[in-house]
Amino acid sequence: MNAVVYLRISQDRSGEQAGVERQREACLARCAERGWEVLTVESDNDLSASGKRRRPGFENMLTAIQAGKARHVVAWSLDRLQRNRRDELRLYEACKESGASLSLVNGADIDFSTAAGRFVADSLGSVARFEIELKSDRQRAAQLQSARAGKRSGGRRPFGYEADGVTIREDEAKAIRRGYADVLAGESLGEVARRWNAAGLLPPQGRRDGTQGGVWRRDSVRVVLLNPRNIAKRAYRGEIVADAVWPPIVDAPTFEAVKATLTDPTRHTGRTSAKQLLSGLALCGVCGATVHAGGSTRRGVRNYRCSASTGHVARMADPVEDYISRVIVARLSMPDARDLMTSRDHPDIDSLRAEADGIRTRLTQLVAAFTDGALTDEQLRVGTERLRKRSAEIDAELADAGRADVLGPLVAADDVQAVWDSLTDARRRAVIETLMTVTIHPPGRGTRTFRPETVTIDWKTA
Ligand SMILES: [Zn+2]
Repeated sequence: MNAVVYLRISQDRSGEQAGVERQREACLARCAERGWEVLTVESDNDLSASGKRRRPGFENMLTAIQAGKARHVVAWSLDRLQRNRRDELRLYEACKESGASLSLVNGADIDFSTAAGRFVADSLGSVARFEIELKSDRQRAAQLQSARAGKRSGGRRPFGYEADGVTIREDEAKAIRRGYADVLAGESLGEVARRWNAAGLLPPQGRRDGTQGGVWRRDSVRVVLLNPRNIAKRAYRGEIVADAVWPPIVDAPTFEAVKATLTDPTRHTGRTSAKQLLSGLALCGVCGATVHAGGSTRRGVRNYRCSASTGHVARMADPVEDYISRVIVARLSMPDARDLMTSRDHPDIDSLRAEADGIRTRLTQLVAAFTDGALTDEQLRVGTERLRKRSAEIDAELADAGRADVLGPLVAADDVQAVWDSLTDARRRAVIETLMTVTIHPPGRGTRTFRPETVTIDWKTA
């Protein structure tokens, strides 16, 4: 019959310090009395831990019970054995499962292989479970209350803010604003990450001390940009529940536009740097499928091929790209280029935002009315459905307003060609996509020179 002895050194404010040696001697004596062989003596030291650290000794003890190696657990007292209710429950369940017994030097023996022992374990276990649930209910209620008051949640320092979560950290906030602008201009998240890293802005980690660690990656940049904290909204479990107590870093239309861009299911999430300018963008003149980079030929010439069928279109990339670039620079250099942006109905952003706020309030009221029994399931469903639909429309309109950023830098430039040349491919793609649909036709037999009529440009804005 093997026993595992478990010792714990703990802060003892009551003065009844049971030294670890005294615990050990008493537990070993108990094993000798009962004729149990001591399999192992496990111990943990809680003195330095604030209740957060794992207890390797406790885990080893559980493993020994679960593996059926230890039939008995010997400890000084119940409070020496477990540190929290969760561990207590795990211990009871492990003992019940394997029929191990618990022997306390200062306390009872609990034999989990008997009906009485299981009853005691179940009773103690359900008390433990109740306390755990009560605690998490209280925590959840407190978290929700704090969220509704617009206060920050604990945890790590948010990027863009100081450790208090309220004061803006200007260099990071500037990088975040630039990140939103870059995404709207068609830049990839990977490029934003690269720029933040290059600027020496590292992600905050750990708790409120805001110490730095790791580097930015596509996914972590995405999390920052999609966080409604940046428009001073407090979210709780993914829903915005209140205006936050901290100031915003960007305005709502910018945020909504970026959100629409990043959550667009058709967005290409792969590395855009490996792409050719018109891959996935221009269409095959034969079937309408997109074209992609056809790989280099023997002479190392880049080309475009129909992505649906190898027989449709295969064109050298350089002349087509040169042509599209020349057309865009020419168009954006025209005196009326500004109209490309302003000819669109510019939505009244302030009134849209006000309407969106009103919808959120109305949704909260509907849920409250439902909770009070004033609404049926069906009334709630119909009511929220209509509001959510309108809310989605508003988000889309706000997103449209943000897309003007794609053309802005070019239209405002004195030297459009120079700005175009300075853009990354990702941003050029965004410009092309905003302005036109490009269709590439077969070049025709035996033709060596580029003929513009073999590339169709359909302008999206008249
Ligand atoms: Zn095709």
